[in-house]
Amino acid sequence: MSIKTDYKIPFTTFLNVINNELTDTDTKRHTICPSTEEPLWDAPVSTEEDVNRAVSAAKAAYPSWSRLSQDERADYLNKFADAIEANQEDFIELLGKEVGKPPQAGSFEMFFVMSLARETPKLRLKEEKVIDDADRTAIVRHVPLGVGVGIVPWNFPLTLGIGKLLPALLAGNTFIWKPSPFAPYSALKLAELGTKIFPPGVFQALSGDEGLGPLLTAHPGVAKVSFTGSVETGKKIMTACATTLKRVTLELGGNDAAIICDDVDIDAVVAKVTFLAFVHCGQICMNVKRIYVHQNIYDKFLATMVAVTKQFKTGDHTDPEAFFGPIQNSMQYGKLQDFYSHIGKSGWKTALGGEPGPKEGKGFYMPATIIDDPPDDSSIVTAEPFGPIVPVLRWSDEEDVIKRANASNLGLGASVWSKDVPRARRMAEQLEAGSIWVNTHFELAPNVPFGGHKESGLGMDWGEIGLQGWCNPQAYWVKHSS
Ligand code: NAD
Repeated sequence: MSIKTDYKIPFTTFLNVINNELTDTDTKRHTICPSTEEPLWDAPVSTEEDVNRAVSAAKAAYPSWSRLSQDERADYLNKFADAIEANQEDFIELLGKEVGKPPQAGSFEMFFVMSLARETPKLRLKEEKVIDDADRTAIVRHVPLGVGVGIVPWNFPLTLGIGKLLPALLAGNTFIWKPSPFAPYSALKLAELGTKIFPPGVFQALSGDEGLGPLLTAHPGVAKVSFTGSVETGKKIMTACATTLKRVTLELGGNDAAIICDDVDIDAVVAKVTFLAFVHCGQICMNVKRIYVHQNIYDKFLATMVAVTKQFKTGDHTDPEAFFGPIQNSMQYGKLQDFYSHIGKSGWKTALGGEPGPKEGKGFYMPATIIDDPPDDSSIVTAEPFGPIVPVLRWSDEEDVIKRANASNLGLGASVWSKDVPRARRMAEQLEAGSIWVNTHFELAPNVPFGGHKESGLGMDWGEIGLQGWCNPQAYWVKHSS
């Protein structure tokens, strides 16, 4: 496909997008590049007035946008996908600076972004004729809500936001994107690109500090908030949205278990599971976070996993060979230092890595660490570290390991790995999670929904279910004579 050069934008200024105008604020803030610790660009700190202006513009744009057909809105989204593609390399570089992603990891994120951008416009809301007889017809259909807000974390700042934006718009809503204060830049650029495509007020973005999210969740003009982030914040958002009964989707934390049976091809499965545990330094909700390995293969699996992990190179956002980059921000780096300090205090055995010594040089780097069979009640098993540290645990009894995998207040994803696929399916179907997988994990597609059970969330993003989440269901009755 040819790249449309008229969609190229400079990646040097970062401004709010309100009613298709690039707008600045009196107060500004900036983040720190996680590899160099140098300050990045100024970004706006939106005020209540900015929020009011954006919500008013979104409300004004809603009637004509929602009246377009799904096909017409999909045409806009397809042009938007072309515009993103034209700037792909700049986005990868930007993700390197703002999130610390080495080029491999930035390309991994852009792969998700482009597949969402290309595939989401193919989805359609469908009507179902539930009754259709000589007397009457009853249809169940889905109608848009109004102004939608997406609140996004820092780890996959583009993927997680665009997975809300595109279905919201396709369903006929208008949308305001609030990026994380730790990673505001890529979302602002995406919204700037949107000014070349969408009518004013349809897609807007506001950057700010921690005060901005609560202004949006409290605003009476907002009909729905779709949030991705921590469980703690998710609960606050649901409470705030209750005051006006806003619709809410919550994509929250995970503590995903992978259960490895004793018949697997050890080398092949270790390579996959190690990647899935450590990709983006463990800063993904769906990383494998607990690895239960059958005792018959435990020692060989662990030794192979250590060897595979040692081959992953650490480097900064300019290093094309690097797999591990830095932790995204100093707050998360501090949390991980605290987490790693439990290794000694709690007597966890390390198969690789361990507590880092005093910080040397620039960058928030943490050592890849594998904990060898810690007790089930230790925090490395019960909590989500969100860093490059993972426990490997022994199991011997099928029923018992399923119970252990389910013994969590979180239920985002879970997997079973075995050559005996019927056995693995039987086990996987007993796992309490929004996504269950056999012989894979973190497998996603834009037309398949994902979300969490238990405290990992409410509702789902992506796919037809994600699209319906941006609508009210409506019962539509027609009597054939009056
Ligand atoms: P966070 O909850 O601290 O922040 C997420 C977003 O919420 C940010 O934009 C923040 O500014 C905003 N926010 C904070 N307080 C708010 C409030 N009171 N009202 C409105 N908005 C508010 O999360 P984080 O540290 O950025 O991200 C890490 C967490 O996100 C991890 O727990 C991870 O598992 C989770 N996560 C979940 C998914 C998923 O799809 N389930 C994906 C990625 C990350």
